[in-house]
Amino acid sequence: MQEIRLASRPSGWPTADNFELVELPTPEPGPGQVLVRNQFMSVDPYMRGRMNDVESYVAPFQLGKPLDGAAVGEVVASNAADVPVGATVLHGLGWRDYAVLDAAHVRAVDPAAAPTPSAYLGLLGMTGLTAYVGLLDIAQFREGDTVFVSGAAGAVGSVAGQVAKLRGAKRVIGSAGSAEKVRYLVDELGFDAAFNYKDAPVRDQLREAAPDGIDVYFDNVGGDHLEAAISSLNKYGRVALCGAIAQYNDTAPPAAPRNLALAIGKELTLRGFIVSNHNKRMPDFVAEVGAWLRAGQISAQETVVEGLAGAPEAFLGLLRGENTGKMVIKL
Ligand code: NDP
Repeated sequence: MQEIRLASRPSGWPTADNFELVELPTPEPGPGQVLVRNQFMSVDPYMRGRMNDVESYVAPFQLGKPLDGAAVGEVVASNAADVPVGATVLHGLGWRDYAVLDAAHVRAVDPAAAPTPSAYLGLLGMTGLTAYVGLLDIAQFREGDTVFVSGAAGAVGSVAGQVAKLRGAKRVIGSAGSAEKVRYLVDELGFDAAFNYKDAPVRDQLREAAPDGIDVYFDNVGGDHLEAAISSLNKYGRVALCGAIAQYNDTAPPAAPRNLALAIGKELTLRGFIVSNHNKRMPDFVAEVGAWLRAGQISAQETVVEGLAGAPEAFLGLLRGENTGKMVIKL
């Protein structure tokens, strides 16, 4: 088997040298354990934070040890009656092609209920649930709202925007980092307007796209995006603080937002959240988003990179914006 280890910790932008691919004998499952052949693994922005040696809501990766993260695969050997050989399971030991786990640490998923098993890493998995919870519970989305989503062509953002449309938003506006992504948002996902944040100041482009202001901002980016949203938010506007990817590789504190005091007079609500504390919403999410998926009303686009050895580059590519929809590695 092969696994990818943390070879060194980055300062600023990570590089391929921070990772090391290691060859090992394939392990045997012990009592109560299963051996899983991973079919897909996830790379996610939060993994950048785990490369630093700082305590956060998830433990840092350890130097010289394999990285971990979500993966989906097939059970190929089992010493657990309730998880038979052939089952498709979701678990937390990505960054390797084979994983041994206690049966209690895998969750069986139905491959027939998804277009590809990788959907359980994206649309029907963690990033889809993040979009659902962030929009509906954290930002308290209501029918008729005008919604602005940053990072809109990514895994979370593309679902947040589509859910807002399907739930009756008045207008959904997205920002992304290329002309191709802007076209994708409007032409394929049905956003009402979209702009490339690299073309001109976000504040100006958002004002133009939302002349009557916005009611909800789904923040994946932070910094100047958050500042622009605070300026455009209407009275009692609501913000889901989901991520701040613009600053994950920064070595100095961000320059924006500088206008937070506007939140007082506008009586805004800005609320952060961590999706793993909202797993109780999984059944509602699967029922509603699963139905949209079966009806062909929601897109599950992915960017698929082949092979474990390509995982570090895929992760770096994610941070640079090379993905549209969920970035996954096919093993
Ligand atoms: P994405 O699929 O959105 O991939 C990351 C995207 O970020 C890139 O494609 C890139 O798109 C964009 N990006 C990179 N740098 C910048 C920048 N400087 N300014 C603006 N955009 C940038 O990843 P996810 O959907 O998995 O995650 C989106 C956000 O949600 C992240 O901030 C992540 O940390 C957060 N998150 C939070 C969770 C929670 O529980 N709170 C759970 C899951 C995710 P582009 O080409 O448009 O620049």
